[in-house]
Amino acid sequence: MPNKKIKRLILGTNNSGKLREIRDLLPKNVKIHSTSEFKLKSPRENGKTFIENSLIKSRYFSKKTNLICLADDSGLEIDLLKKKPGIFSARWAGKSLNFNKAIKKVYKELKKKDENWETKKIKARFICALSICYLNKKIACVVGKVEGNISPKPRGTNGFGYDPIFIPLNKKLTFGEMKLKTKYKIDHRYKAYKKIKKFF
Ligand code: IMP
Repeated sequence: MPNKKIKRLILGTNNSGKLREIRDLLPKNVKIHSTSEFKLKSPRENGKTFIENSLIKSRYFSKKTNLICLADDSGLEIDLLKKKPGIFSARWAGKSLNFNKAIKKVYKELKKKDENWETKKIKARFICALSICYLNKKIACVVGKVEGNISPKPRGTNGFGYDPIFIPLNKKLTFGEMKLKTKYKIDHRYKAYKKIKKFF
């Protein structure tokens, strides 16, 4: 247990969907800085796992700002695609982060594997690695997961990224159709956050 609660940090992400969700998770008395305040671009994510990439971001943004950094690396694993897009989830959307394009690629890859994939349960999960660093020092690094299936059609306009095609286990709606508040209570980021809650 840390002896001092964190009262001020930078959120190490340039993704507005993640920024919004993590802001909503953190207690209101924590002063949150964003990368845009410092006009910082994201570092190259050349790690091989979500954990490695999360730590690359939290160390990088902390060193650039001299603030404690909380960073997220996350993505969608699809079993039929041998866990892709995985750590390449953002890269499947291209430079302009076009998630219609990324979703089309998911569907195309699934079709290549199985002509009739739409009639089957396609197992998938969202994974989130949250890390906290101060300069080079790792304070914490945890992982959260939410299991589910791929919807044969994109549904809903809430959320971001792959939300319109992910149906969490035992639910009917995609993350894209759920109210943000409902998604935030069951998703991978919330499950990871619960493990580091004690630092705030
Ligand atoms: P990165 O962690 O910045 O490399 O990006 C991860 C990518 O995974 C994001 O750009 C999203 O497309 C996707 N992703 C991560 N978490 C979520 C989520 O909660 N909903 C939808 N897509 C997500």
